[in-house]
Amino acid sequence: MTEVKIRVSNIGLAFKILAFGGGVDSSALLAMHLDRDKAAAYLEISREELDKILPPFHAVVFSDPGSEWPETYENIEYARQRCEDERVSFNVVRHHYNRYFHKETGDALRQKEWKLLPEEEQIHYEKRYEPYTIYEWLTDSAAFPLMPGGGHVCSMRFKGDVMQKWADEEFGTHDVSTKYWYLGIEAEEEGRSQRFTANHSGNLVPGHEYRYPLMDLKMTREDCLKMLEHLEWDYKGDGSPVMKSSCMWCPFSKEWEIDRLVADAMNGSNTKGITEALEIERRFYETDKHAAWHEAGMPLNKGGRCNAGHHRQPYATGYCEHEGCSEHNKHGQATLVQLRYPNDGSQPHAKGKVRKTIEQHITRFVQENK
Ligand code: SF4
Repeated sequence: MTEVKIRVSNIGLAFKILAFGGGVDSSALLAMHLDRDKAAAYLEISREELDKILPPFHAVVFSDPGSEWPETYENIEYARQRCEDERVSFNVVRHHYNRYFHKETGDALRQKEWKLLPEEEQIHYEKRYEPYTIYEWLTDSAAFPLMPGGGHVCSMRFKGDVMQKWADEEFGTHDVSTKYWYLGIEAEEEGRSQRFTANHSGNLVPGHEYRYPLMDLKMTREDCLKMLEHLEWDYKGDGSPVMKSSCMWCPFSKEWEIDRLVADAMNGSNTKGITEALEIERRFYETDKHAAWHEAGMPLNKGGRCNAGHHRQPYATGYCEHEGCSEHNKHGQATLVQLRYPNDGSQPHAKGKVRKTIEQHITRFVQENK
């Protein structure tokens, strides 16, 4: 019998999805979607013009890495409720990961840890594909989201990839449909749209296209806040403006965000963020992966890179006396947050500005706020 293959790539299905982050920009896009006539009038454009730049969404999706600010989660709940009231599909998705859970205690092991157990122990575990937060990933692997001189994969792993996977399951893969993602990237952030990992020319994922309506509408962050106020987006019920969203200890945090993290912990309103940040750093420094690399005989893989569990550079201490490592000492110690400050002499081998650990940021904050 002749096999007949039906190609469905020409169906031309197209789905428009808001990548909701819970912050100012994507909240403004959602508010505009929910109140299109008022938004168009405020922008002094026709409804048709608005609908062309910001077409009605088929769905809104938020990928939760697990460490957003409490205010962001409040805003997300408000957004969910507003969408439910307007019958807009609102979805929360999470990164999932295979782990082995002890059948009695519930203790979780990653696959490589489970494999190290004797067979008679392994049978007490069952494999489950469960949500896995960014905090669990960093503490389990004793890693930072961003290393000096490196790139970050966390936003793709915990947001971009997760949303794409969900959309493929919901609306079909690239041979069935194209998913048009609407991202809240402001007019001043052109570089960010280029840097958005899913949109890199070498990393295009078939079936996913990206649109930046705030750039098309020339809306800045200030414009977004004004739009939210105009459209009465009141997530706390007291007129509070929407907060910038991010993981509470994101490596790209500004000083005011670190100060907020410390101040929130000191006034008791949010201790989760600082506790997580301190634990991520404690886990990172607990094992010196550069020393482990030397001890193992400095092995490198075919690509000239270190294997898992090893660092080519002395990230944990910032210094290595080994002759071949002298070039690396200039980078100083790696830390969770990337902000850099003048070297006070505490890292004599580092050149230029150096990073502060979370503990050093707490000391700085306390001294500055005596
Ligand atoms: S907010 Fe920062 S830490 Fe969180 S996923 Fe994005 S880049 Fe990574």
